[in-house]
Amino acid sequence: MVKHQPNSGQKIAVIGGGIIGLSIALKLQLSGEHVTVIDKKGAGEGCSKGNAGHFATEQVFPLATPGLLPQLPKMMLSPSSPVSIRFQDIHKTFFWMFRFLAKARPSATQHATRALTDLNQQAMSSWYQLLDSVGLSHLIVMDGSLLTFESDRLFKAYGETLLALESQGVRYEIWGQKVIRERVPNLAESVKHGVFFPETGHSLNPYRMCLELKSEFERLGGNWCEEEIENIDASYRSVRLSTLKSTFDFDSVVVATGAESATLVKKLTGVKVPLQAERGYHLMVPDLANKLPFPISSADRKFIMTPMSHGLRLAGTVEYAGLDSPANMKRAEMLKSLAKGLLNEQCDVEKSGERWMGNRPSLPDSLPVIDRLSEGKVLLAFGHQHLGLTQAAVTADLIYQLHTKQKTSLDVAPFSLSRFG
Ligand SMILES: Cc1cc2nc3c(=O)[nH]c(=O)nc-3n(C[C@H](O)[C@H](O)[C@H](O)COP(=O)(O)OP(=O)(O)OC[C@H]3O[C@@H](n4cnc5c(N)ncnc54)[C@H](O)[C@@H]3O)c2cc1C
Repeated sequence: MVKHQPNSGQKIAVIGGGIIGLSIALKLQLSGEHVTVIDKKGAGEGCSKGNAGHFATEQVFPLATPGLLPQLPKMMLSPSSPVSIRFQDIHKTFFWMFRFLAKARPSATQHATRALTDLNQQAMSSWYQLLDSVGLSHLIVMDGSLLTFESDRLFKAYGETLLALESQGVRYEIWGQKVIRERVPNLAESVKHGVFFPETGHSLNPYRMCLELKSEFERLGGNWCEEEIENIDASYRSVRLSTLKSTFDFDSVVVATGAESATLVKKLTGVKVPLQAERGYHLMVPDLANKLPFPISSADRKFIMTPMSHGLRLAGTVEYAGLDSPANMKRAEMLKSLAKGLLNEQCDVEKSGERWMGNRPSLPDSLPVIDRLSEGKVLLAFGHQHLGLTQAAVTADLIYQLHTKQKTSLDVAPFSLSRFG
């Protein structure tokens, strides 16, 4: 259970109470620091609230790859495509898209794959270490996940990816139709092939997970403060945070403000981080809570279905848009027809419930920023794109190691802020 470490008693602020900030806050509080989380909303109310709940350690490839380029124009132009740009926001996404496409070179892809593999290989041991220390390991279900294929052509083409996964040490099993029928009887007959990833897991409720982390953090003496931080100034002996009404001084500050991090980082360092809101949606189907044994994603339809305590969560789609642009809930509804084709007639997806949109914090190279600045007074942890839930605890470990000036458990050079200038 709770393992307190020697108290160095530093006063630390973590700005942002999403899954990244909460994991860092809990880790630092457990290590004996006096931590305050500052969030303008409640815990997990940002992107962490409605994600697909998949601890997706098999996802070791960046989003920009040479293989994506020929597919992209067709994807972008179709309104029902899994990837789209909000037309009115083209001017806000143009430069980011340019930098993203520039990362689709083989050398950049290899570099990002190595760095993502490093993070993902430690992701689950970091999660279990953190959760075990506060008796919350039941929050993760390690039952694996299945990637399905309806098209023979697509499955054949995936052979190259399987070789690349093997070279990164990702374990998988190929399932034929018979095994798929036995293990997941509620999938449609059209599913012909499956790749099962045994070392992945899922959350039964990502929002509840955030709330549980918050309450453990508070039980250990951590403070929660609902304020919007307008400015950070590290030029004093301490670090000064300003809201519209007041200022607060801390020994160190961690910036974990997800897709909204660019403004604070620019004010603090002058560096313009190319952080894009890569929006995704979910649709809950409450009656289908027990129909699938583990998360099922579709290579053909490009979405995921995760069994949660309060229903089946259909999630996915990528929509590049401005941070504050209104959600387009048609994209959440789109998930219904995708699921209809993938599930059998025992599963009625018509009675759907909650629809949700969240801003994934995405950088062009698909790597987060995990860094230490101003002699350790400022730590940065944002930009985890599609993998924030998966990588939150390993990020917390790295931030702890950077804070305590220990040798980091993996090479953090690929995550430095300086790659942006
Ligand atoms: C549809 C969808 C499905 C996904 N599925 C998965 C998945 O299956 N597995 C996975 O690993 N990842 C998944 N992700 C990605 C994952 O959800 C994100 O990477 C993760 O939530 C990012 O966490 P965060 O803490 O950085 O950001 P957030 O959760 O957005 O938290 C940032 C917090 O900072 C606060 N904040 C911002 N600015 C300020 C300020 N100035 N002052 C004070 N507070 C501030 C916000 O209020 C917010 O609470 C998915 C995302 C989407 C959209």
